[in-house]
Amino acid sequence: MCGIVGYISKGNDERSVNIGIEALKRLEYRGYDSAGLAFWDRSGGIICQKAVGRISNLENKIGQNGFSPADPVILHTRWATHGNVCEANAHPHSDCTRDIFVAHNGIIENYPALKEQLIGEGHVFSSGTDTEVIAHLIEKCFEGNLEEAVRKSLGCLVGTYGLAVISGRDPNKIVAARLSSPLLVGLAEDYFLLASDPSAVIAHTRKVVYLDDGEIAVIGRSNFTIIREKKAEEIEWADGQHEKEGFPHYMLKEVMEQPESIEQTLKGRLIPEAGNAKLGGLDSVEQRLRQIDKVYIVGCGTARHAGLLGEYMFEEYAGISTRTDAASEFRYRKTLLDKNTALLAISQSGETADTLAAIRDARSRGALTMGITNVVGSTQARETDAGVYTRCGPEIGVASTKAFTSQVAALALFTLFLGRQRQMPLETGRRIVRELLRMPEMVEQTLQCDRQIKELAEKYRGFENFFYLGRKYNYPIAREGALKIKEIAYVHSEGSWGGELKHGELALISEDFPSICIVPKDSVYEKMVSNIEEIKARGGPVIAVTSEGNQEIESLADDVVYIPDTIEFLTPILSVIPLQLFAYHFAVLCGCDIDKPRNLAKSVTVE
Ligand code: GLU
Repeated sequence: MCGIVGYISKGNDERSVNIGIEALKRLEYRGYDSAGLAFWDRSGGIICQKAVGRISNLENKIGQNGFSPADPVILHTRWATHGNVCEANAHPHSDCTRDIFVAHNGIIENYPALKEQLIGEGHVFSSGTDTEVIAHLIEKCFEGNLEEAVRKSLGCLVGTYGLAVISGRDPNKIVAARLSSPLLVGLAEDYFLLASDPSAVIAHTRKVVYLDDGEIAVIGRSNFTIIREKKAEEIEWADGQHEKEGFPHYMLKEVMEQPESIEQTLKGRLIPEAGNAKLGGLDSVEQRLRQIDKVYIVGCGTARHAGLLGEYMFEEYAGISTRTDAASEFRYRKTLLDKNTALLAISQSGETADTLAAIRDARSRGALTMGITNVVGSTQARETDAGVYTRCGPEIGVASTKAFTSQVAALALFTLFLGRQRQMPLETGRRIVRELLRMPEMVEQTLQCDRQIKELAEKYRGFENFFYLGRKYNYPIAREGALKIKEIAYVHSEGSWGGELKHGELALISEDFPSICIVPKDSVYEKMVSNIEEIKARGGPVIAVTSEGNQEIESLADDVVYIPDTIEFLTPILSVIPLQLFAYHFAVLCGCDIDKPRNLAKSVTVE
């Protein structure tokens, strides 16, 4: 269906039409009902020819007329959507002066209103197509520069387009633009070949530049430039989300918002029957993702902790070798990447400098780049090949809380998607979907520990060191818990693997050094219980975070906080909540500036 070709050379090339026709024929396989072209003629103007049916009909017509063609030339095969199949409706279409010519793939949805308006302003139409409005709009906007007139006209259009435009009033260029209809520019030695499909240029060159949506290419005789059109985007956040709404601090408000923010992350993205996730942001790379055999996750601070969870999830459920790195390390180390590697960047703001540098590095080395971010249209969202928005609303508190749990929820969606593409059985997928659907409610339930945590903060007030311990899925949560209390209460803390304890850190344990142990009833539960025993044997106070109903831990730990029971890999979304609250209440007691901790910034846009 439909095809576009354009040709412009360094000199005025008499082969222009022949080369253009030959390239257009390579698009015949796509199907069409009529064809046409417009070219610069040595007689000093643009000539337009059209024919219904095969391209050979067009060729015969040109042959009979004895033209002296030069370039630029634009050509089109039409597959009618608006207006019947006839010569008048074949492309290119022109303005009233027959000086501007447009070949168009796609549909202009608002053409009736535009046409009516243009007719009212005196424009005369000669076809029944939607496309013709574009030629008249360009005529209306033309002030001596074709790309500027095209740029202004595009702002009026609703719909989809791949466009090629030439004009006798600005003759040494082809202006091309795309929105949801492919276009590329082939770079040959002495000429440029514009096409809607690579098969049209392959005989000439293998060097091509693909246009992105919203881009306008100005293809001159010896160089071409790309202008990027910026469309205004809708801010999805409601106004009130920037207010504290009665909470003393943004951080507490954001912790308490987590049932809703997680629900937003998951909304519309779970398919219970298929045990799968539907992620529109991955559609364009779905096939490529099947070839991926290695994933690097990068992030900074809290986002890196989310990434560590992704690492465990992807390996266990999708069977993909995964490694997480601090973006600041990744960008300088010589990581081995190839086209079967994906880089998954995580950043709340989508503007984290180190993370962006890691994306650019991975991209330049051929890896697929993906992102998880909260901010629509952020640099990360624009520079990655694909991604998932967390949609958790603005996060104002510098210490990240709801953005973290939404990142973990997004990673769980990623895991479902990748897992179901590969080895994950349907039943496992369905079970994960069921648990994710329950997640907002379980988070709500977990938040009820707030009062107890406040009391614990009072009890442990005055301690200057904390140790956070976890294994497997709760190791990253130990790191995150330690980071939270560092960030906002300026208290020294360590977060580590339970298994590493006796390899060094046990030396720190004393009556003055409490440990917070994350010990849900999971596959490493017994191992964590042994770690608690080791700490208690050395007089260290222990706060345990465990699954509801697991009373046996009460005889071991000094204090116990319960979280709802769920599948192992989703417990981190729940177990992190008491740790967020502990850091918060502890910092309040210390008189710290909760939302603006000293020395820290919310979005780290410098290296
Ligand atoms: N909508 C335009 C028309 O009907 C373009 C169709 C196409 O993409 O070929 O003329």
